[in-house]
Amino acid sequence: MTEKSKSQKLIENIFLKKDAKRDWQDNYIWLVEEVGELSRAIRSKDCANIDEEFADVYAWLLSLASTMDINLDEVLLKKYGNGCPKCQKTPCGCNHREEDDEKV
Ligand SMILES: [Zn+2]
Repeated sequence: MTEKSKSQKLIENIFLKKDAKRDWQDNYIWLVEEVGELSRAIRSKDCANIDEEFADVYAWLLSLASTMDINLDEVLLKKYGNGCPKCQKTPCGCNHREEDDEKV
């Protein structure tokens, strides 16, 4: 069992009590809103704001995971800990991500 990251523990200490009272859908909407704000910051090349929006997206992702009793590091390492989930190489030697681009 992987210990929760310092970041996930930090966000839990600050927000878990409040965020756990909301439905997961409402927390998810907050996350998506922050992703939208990150997109706008990147498109406007507003460097100071980009840092802040990355922090907000990460904080909401961590909090959403915590309210659903998910250890984000644990699930990330479970899926990616042995390299690319498709070819198992680090760095990836297949066209895993390029295939996704074709769907867009
Ligand atoms: Zn690969």
